[in-house]
Amino acid sequence: MILGLADRIAAKMGPQTLAAVYQQSPGWLVEQIRMHRFRQTVRHAAAHSDFYRRQFKQRGIDARQVRYPSDLGDFYTTPDDIVANPESFLCRPPAIVFESSGTTGKNKQVYYGRDELDEMGRVMAAGLFLMGMEPSDRVANAFDFSMWIPGMLAHIGLLAAGSFCMAFGKVDPSEVYRRLKQYRFNVVLGEPTWLIRLTELAERDNAGIKLKLLLGGAEEMPAKAIPWMQSVWQGATVKMCYGSVELGSALGYQPCSQNDGYHVDDTDFLPELYQPDADGHGEVVFTTLRRTTMPLIRYRTRDVATFIPGQCPCGLPGMRMSKIRGRRDELVVASGGNLYPLMFENIIKQVPTLTHDWQVTFTLEGIREVLHIRVESASPNHDTIRQAILAQAQEQYPDLMKNLALGIFQMRISVHPPGSLRPGRKLKRLVDLRYAPQPDAAETASPVTNGSHVEVAHEATR
Ligand SMILES: [Zn+2]
Repeated sequence: MILGLADRIAAKMGPQTLAAVYQQSPGWLVEQIRMHRFRQTVRHAAAHSDFYRRQFKQRGIDARQVRYPSDLGDFYTTPDDIVANPESFLCRPPAIVFESSGTTGKNKQVYYGRDELDEMGRVMAAGLFLMGMEPSDRVANAFDFSMWIPGMLAHIGLLAAGSFCMAFGKVDPSEVYRRLKQYRFNVVLGEPTWLIRLTELAERDNAGIKLKLLLGGAEEMPAKAIPWMQSVWQGATVKMCYGSVELGSALGYQPCSQNDGYHVDDTDFLPELYQPDADGHGEVVFTTLRRTTMPLIRYRTRDVATFIPGQCPCGLPGMRMSKIRGRRDELVVASGGNLYPLMFENIIKQVPTLTHDWQVTFTLEGIREVLHIRVESASPNHDTIRQAILAQAQEQYPDLMKNLALGIFQMRISVHPPGSLRPGRKLKRLVDLRYAPQPDAAETASPVTNGSHVEVAHEATR
């Protein structure tokens, strides 16, 4: 009753008040509100959604008796559940849909109501204020506005924050760079690889433009990039958010100087870890606590991370989470997009003379991503093969090639003799070596030995 009242009052606060109240809230109160909202969400979903009604019935779960996540036993939702039948999750008519690439290359659809968009904007604005933004700041929003959510969400958040803004979308960074002075922007939002590209332009131009804050999201930021960006932008702060289409607003954000991981928005989400390993890393699972259109209960994100114990020195209540270690499956967020094995499968199968074995690795050279495609062929015409792969990539995945043209990553293609790539029974298709100095030996060891005399490396930038 009292919690319900507190909840209703919180729902009417402006983003600045919300941020200030959250800062002052004791941890036990945040915990109480979180659990209150969790129980409401489970009951709402059981009453209105076909998917949850069916799942709970099969498992003998009585929603009215559920008090804690553990009361749901082994019930979890997954990206595959959404792909199979997204509309069965719906509890009421939606106003808008967003899509993202799924684990198998199929899109996940996530629906929201108009009031939820407003609410996500309010929460986003409160998060921006906690990260040091102020209503008087002037913001260039270069997050992608396509079917995916970050551009739109950031835009709604900026309107809620009352900051002057421009909705660029993911345009060529030079378009934003040449308007920084014109509109006196001091905050720039965008994907990390895109922000790095913008910073390269600034470094080359050497005009001494000062920014206050660069905020990245949707993929990890190479650690080495941050001090360099801070120096190019004359002392700007560089921060990251962790979010997704399914989360709506960000689950993780960086409100203080402890930027090794994230503070978790644990009033809008209830986070858990699925099957943590010996060192405490597991799949990030969350329950949405404020969604009434398409609530997600114990949703497995496929992202692997761990929770950081204890309270942060900054004094904010709530949980903290490490950086994302990687994906449970093979989807790799790299090169400015979501890449999955099927994409490269589709390219390679169209190219004559190639065997069925191939591998793509992602590495960092300095701060630049390198996407290296290794294929096998008995043909000596390596240049023809390389051209055919690039042509297929251009035809099938123009977005990927647009990012290549923008200089967001570099691509190499090397051709190896048939049978040389597969080290054993299993060949992992996408190997992300950008943030993992010690990849799992069995599947992720790079199959190409040093000094491979057949390797021909090509740079294809711009
Ligand atoms: Zn902190």
